[in-house]
Amino acid sequence: MLYLHEITIEVMIDSSAKVLLIYTGGTIGMVENSETGALEPFNFSHLKSNMPEIKRLNFHVDTYLFDPPIDSSDISPEKWQAMAKVIKENYDAYDGFVVLHGTDTMAYTASVMSLMFENLTKPVIFTGSQLPIGKLRTDGKENLVTALEIAADKDEFGHPAVPELCVYMQNLLMRGNRTTKINADNFSAFNSPNYPCLAKAGIDIRYEDNYILKPNYDKSVNFNFGLNHHVVILKLFPGITKEVVEANLTISGLKGVVLETYGSGNSPRDQWFINSLQDALNKGIVIVNVTQCLYGNVEMHRYENGQCLEKLGLISGHDITTEAALAKLMVLFGEGKTPEEVKVLMPISLRGELTMR
Ligand code: ASP
Repeated sequence: MLYLHEITIEVMIDSSAKVLLIYTGGTIGMVENSETGALEPFNFSHLKSNMPEIKRLNFHVDTYLFDPPIDSSDISPEKWQAMAKVIKENYDAYDGFVVLHGTDTMAYTASVMSLMFENLTKPVIFTGSQLPIGKLRTDGKENLVTALEIAADKDEFGHPAVPELCVYMQNLLMRGNRTTKINADNFSAFNSPNYPCLAKAGIDIRYEDNYILKPNYDKSVNFNFGLNHHVVILKLFPGITKEVVEANLTISGLKGVVLETYGSGNSPRDQWFINSLQDALNKGIVIVNVTQCLYGNVEMHRYENGQCLEKLGLISGHDITTEAALAKLMVLFGEGKTPEEVKVLMPISLRGELTMR
């Protein structure tokens, strides 16, 4: 993989900056009730008294709460639309946004929302934690304070340091649509397997400017609210049966399939399997080939088995994550694109979600 040399940029904290902190739910916003020992949602309306660190930030932080808080395993397209609406309605009033979200589905939310926002000119930083903010050993405080700083940081031209939708966890700032949750226990719960981090937080926050997307500041941001969830993820495994494949590919109203294949995009070549794919493609269902491997990308021409899929008309997802491939199908079909248009757009990078070769 070839990337430009890393260049770090000087950033300044803008003391007039205003950041909107949106608490959607998740472990980060919990405190332990000292009497019962139970985890309860943190009272964000008393954020400054509960978290004195916030007072020491030299910029303004307002809060917006989802009430009741959402455990991110309950996330849905409607909730994504509600989150996007909060950002849209407050877009002009703030310099940046921090979204506190459960880690379980954060990579899905970040992928979908990055594609719902076109020409984003302000930072939208997702963060969460593995331990509640009210626990002594919490990872939440550092994640929250650094995410707020990143949302407020400006470059030497007064533009946001990172005008992107990102995930910040455990010292790493990652492009949101490149992330995947890789660990249920560790503080470093996320990885950006196929794209470098956009910043690393140590003594300073070091931004890697060459990897950060640059919007057109003369144009305004576009919010696309349409989402079509008639999509499916089908993961291959040795021994998968015709019934399983057909049950998935014949779902009524199905628009798109993320087919998780082996290695560089290979699948079995059984005739029944090829026929099932062919029937789905004939109905206008878009099938995107994504690798089950964490790292690397789909190259269907490499092996005969992969070539067979390419000839059928499967679309290469290159090095996209499963989360981002699913999100992209939902957003593109949600915008009302035809299967032919979706096939053209899927292998193209729209928000830096895949590497084109
Ligand atoms: N179940 C929680 C959630 O995703 C876990 C977490 O916050 O990390 O909302």
